[in-house]
Amino acid sequence: MPIDATLPYDDQNIFAKILRGEIPCKKVFEDDWALAFHDINPQAPTHVLVIPKGAYVSWDDFSAKASDAEIAGFVRAVGHVARALGLVEPGYRLLANIGMDSHQEVPHLHVHIFGGKPLGPMLMR
Ligand code: 5GP
Repeated sequence: MPIDATLPYDDQNIFAKILRGEIPCKKVFEDDWALAFHDINPQAPTHVLVIPKGAYVSWDDFSAKASDAEIAGFVRAVGHVARALGLVEPGYRLLANIGMDSHQEVPHLHVHIFGGKPLGPMLMR
């Protein structure tokens, strides 16, 4: 079910539980600002999610309310993870779903990193 990204943060969401260590994940990277882990239902040979440590529902919430340090830390973490996964030379795709029309399912900001094969043109059907 897609979520309404204008609702307040729900600290019972699945990624909040992963951040608190209540649910396991296949961790790729962690620092003060971000956690990266493999998607449970990968859509590409490499499909990693990067989430900020702070409680933000979506990119909208994050870009409006996060501190400059949080934003810098998160953006640098996404770039670092892609580099560490060896995706820069072959190329990769970033995606952040925000709200109902994008079919965002988890109400904690996450950036998808897709790679590991030619991904083709982006299609909107
Ligand atoms: P969204 O549609 O919100 O942009 O994407 C949510 C993503 O989270 C989906 O790709 C889904 O497979 C992934 N996901 C949902 N629950 C879990 C989980 O418990 N663990 C992991 N690693 N990924 C999850």
